[in-house]
Amino acid sequence: MDNKKLAEILFPHILKAPDYYEKLYPARVLPEGARVTRFAPSPTGFLHFGNLFTCLVSYKTAKTTDGVFYVRVEDTDRKRKVEGAIEVMLKGLSVYGIVPDEGVFSETEQFGAYGPYYQSERKIIYQTYAKSLVEQGLAYPCFMTAEELDEIRAQQENESVKGIWGKWARHRDLSLPEIEEKLNAGTPWTLRLKSPGTLEGKCFFDDMIKGKIEMPENVQDVVILKSDGIPTYHFAHAIDDHLMRTTHVVRGDEWISSTPIHLQLFKLLGFKPPKYAHVAPIMKEENGGKRKLSKRKDPEAAVTYYAEEGFPSESVNEYMLTLANSNFEDWRRMNKDEELDKFPFNLKKMSVSGALFDMVKLTDVSKNVISKMPAGKVFELSYEWAKEYNPNLAALYEKDTDRATAILNIDRENKKPRKDIAKWSDIPDYISYMYDETFAPCYELTGNATPALAVKVLELYKDIVNLDDTKDEWFERIKGMCEAVGCTPNVKEYKQNPEAFDGHVGDVSTVIRVALTGRTNTPDLYEITRLLGRETVEKRLTDALSYYKEEK
Ligand code: GLU
Repeated sequence: MDNKKLAEILFPHILKAPDYYEKLYPARVLPEGARVTRFAPSPTGFLHFGNLFTCLVSYKTAKTTDGVFYVRVEDTDRKRKVEGAIEVMLKGLSVYGIVPDEGVFSETEQFGAYGPYYQSERKIIYQTYAKSLVEQGLAYPCFMTAEELDEIRAQQENESVKGIWGKWARHRDLSLPEIEEKLNAGTPWTLRLKSPGTLEGKCFFDDMIKGKIEMPENVQDVVILKSDGIPTYHFAHAIDDHLMRTTHVVRGDEWISSTPIHLQLFKLLGFKPPKYAHVAPIMKEENGGKRKLSKRKDPEAAVTYYAEEGFPSESVNEYMLTLANSNFEDWRRMNKDEELDKFPFNLKKMSVSGALFDMVKLTDVSKNVISKMPAGKVFELSYEWAKEYNPNLAALYEKDTDRATAILNIDRENKKPRKDIAKWSDIPDYISYMYDETFAPCYELTGNATPALAVKVLELYKDIVNLDDTKDEWFERIKGMCEAVGCTPNVKEYKQNPEAFDGHVGDVSTVIRVALTGRTNTPDLYEITRLLGRETVEKRLTDALSYYKEEK
């Protein structure tokens, strides 16, 4: 067979040889050990939390080695293409601080010396390499119809090795005249790899996450160009990651099973293979078992969920690192206030079988992150969120932004800040009693506080409350009331002799707290009282008093 002639017949429009592209995209000049990684989304418009996670792992792999991280859009499947999808995905990434060094930056912008970074713009490159494979007798046109392929699939149901190989590779050895005849008849064709693999052959590779892997080598004559001349994932992956000089391919572990195909392609194309890091999917616990985090079943599978709920990106990033590296939490304990970027991320510390998504953990991590933010930042971020997702909260804030910030500052910016807020959508409830519009009285009492005690406390307190008190004066004032209402200012004393009193200073405070906020547990009551303002304080104390008077 004259392979050169066949290549010319199949690809008459391809005038360049691979060498041209090898020179056009030379090896990158980077510091020793620098890793080149990428994120290669298909433009479906949906960013799964697992994609974001894999992308973060890829990004960190490059960044911790002073390498390069780029975005390539895998848009060869036109049926799956969704308008505006790239914008949505890139925005999703940038929220989490993932900004590429090169590649696709927006629907219309790409930047970098290794482009184009849209696969749909690289058709000629793929075909150049395809032509070269044909010239070398390593690829051939296959004219089998979809029906024929379906038939083969059905016949292979009980075969252990499926696909087009051996006797099923019916067009592998067609002669040039046979091929020409089909081409002249206009028969559609795909280009298949002429796999040199054998059933006994093995494929070995050392995965950066999964460790040493041994699999049967590929024997299938896989399709490398579809009938429209567009490459399959396998072929595009080999060409692109080679020409873009990717050193580490970080991708989902659903690709492990095709890695023998990829390594064979790299070899036949004469490329040095990249290192692979196959990331296990994020799992979820269900009925005592584990399953993959599912787009269909779990709202938190969508990256948009976190923005809608108002989890700050810092929290999600921090949480993703707890999922990514088993030693992250120890590092965090030792480096409480260190920036996340300082964490020495390591691929070798990734979970092999899939980290478990845990909402309670995310909530805890986020409470911690938010508790460390200054009030100004909490205000800014939550205001931004509110403008988009909760106009009522935005409107409350806008009444007096300084007061809103002061409210958010209660029990914050100190050594032991409270950890009440996990996400911005917690704020409306958290601060509801600070605004008359949202205050919902609830006069239920706890501890020794009874309606009878409440009447005594409120009757006294409403006359002596003073919003100009210092914190000490305020507390002294409350303690000072205790005796008159049959309580002791000293909790210890109460515990030693409970029969002697109706309650202690804590119970007196509870009455005031419940009257002012409708809750038994709040941040610093002194600050709350001051920020409520004289008028509101007086009104709420009076309202509570009349309620308890009736109750008594
Ligand atoms: N476009 C592929 C996907 O979305 C990318 C896989 C890879 O990273 O190589 O699954």
